[in-house]
Amino acid sequence: METHFSKEQLKDKNNKSSEKIFRKCVHCGFCNATCPTYQLLGDELDGPRGRIYLIKDMLENNKPANEKIVKHIDRCLSCYSCMTTCPSGVNYMHLIDHGRNHIEKTYQRPFRDRFVRNFLSKVLSKSTNFRIIGILTRLAKPFLFFFPKNIREMINLMPKKFPKKTLPNMNIYPVKNKKKPVARVALLTGCVQKVIAPQINEATIRLLNRHGIEVVVSKGINCCGSLNHHLGKNDLANEIFRKNILIWHDEYLKNGLDAIISNTSGCGTTLKDYGFIFRSDENLKKKAKKISELTQDISEYLDENIKLNFIKKKENDKEYKIAYHSACSMQHGQKIHDIPINLIKKTGNQVFDIPDGHLCCGSAGTYNLLQNDIAKKLLKNKVSNIEKIKPQFITTGNIGCIAQIANGTKIPILHTVEIIDWYTGGPKPEVLRNL
Ligand code: SF4
Ligand code: SF4
Repeated sequence: METHFSKEQLKDKNNKSSEKIFRKCVHCGFCNATCPTYQLLGDELDGPRGRIYLIKDMLENNKPANEKIVKHIDRCLSCYSCMTTCPSGVNYMHLIDHGRNHIEKTYQRPFRDRFVRNFLSKVLSKSTNFRIIGILTRLAKPFLFFFPKNIREMINLMPKKFPKKTLPNMNIYPVKNKKKPVARVALLTGCVQKVIAPQINEATIRLLNRHGIEVVVSKGINCCGSLNHHLGKNDLANEIFRKNILIWHDEYLKNGLDAIISNTSGCGTTLKDYGFIFRSDENLKKKAKKISELTQDISEYLDENIKLNFIKKKENDKEYKIAYHSACSMQHGQKIHDIPINLIKKTGNQVFDIPDGHLCCGSAGTYNLLQNDIAKKLLKNKVSNIEKIKPQFITTGNIGCIAQIANGTKIPILHTVEIIDWYTGGPKPEVLRNL
């Protein structure tokens, strides 16, 4: 794609990187074929190629965003299916991030949109705020008819109750029986995940400890920052990124870390991008790069580093039919697809890919809250594809997908790490108690 940035414009590091990406695009449109919003809405501007043109036009011509551009960019799920399909290696993720930041700087959204987006940014990235809102929304449920449609939908998406934690809060989870650890890793426990599904972190910690790995949950690290990043709130996101980089890097230097484990693929994709985000920051670039290099999804870490000790128990001697939902951030963002499937196969169960598995379930961070109608259609398609397999349960590696899919089907769904924990000596996951 030809570009027309001036020399002055290219002094800006973001323009410079985006220009290189635009130049890789050959307008072929292959990406449209696998874009969920293009498939649903059929408008060129709701596909990756059209969005690339919109972003290029704003940046190259120093144009402020307008209502039309914002509508089409907001409809993008950041699922990165287009990146898997693109034969030219166009890094759409970095373009859409740049486009969203430009929108945030140059466009004033209507009051209600601003209010909702600011609210989500404040509430979802802090687990204490999220817990309080969870209680308030439960109280509000009998009065739903008072609220406008989008707020009503948001309230409906809140979980009915938050499960109780079974592990105490600690900064270091040592290996049992005072044995010398074979490795030491930091775990990102996340902002929303640790409130709505504490069992995922608990299964991860138990599983790692049982295999001789010490787990560090660094004080001060809560959210990975991707929530604000995808809302285009660059300053807020960067503040979180910086803090995380400094805390983990300090831990790495002082006490040693073999890896930083993410068990939420949406967060893992962003952690792996810290190096790029701070590429021009003289003080942070090396540290950010190190943090990205240390980051691994839990499935990658297990696959590469641990000889899993599977245990046969009476309660797990039945063979289950499991549907594997490949989260977009896992398969497109981190290019991890076969690893979790192969890990589950080691438990002796049958695992099936979901038809049209490259398409998003509609969760996409805050997307199901902000673009509810499109998210609902995607969920309906996802559930109908899952039901074709007739699985006894569903598994995936991303809490957003778990919450979204659980809203569309009664088939139980759980994180892949819970299955591996169960088959290596952990308890049977609560969600499978009736199976
Ligand atoms: S597939 Fe890649 S090269 Fe082709 S239009 Fe899409 S982004 Fe551009
Ligand atoms: S990230 Fe997903 S929704 Fe956005 S343009 Fe690419 S394929 Fe379409």
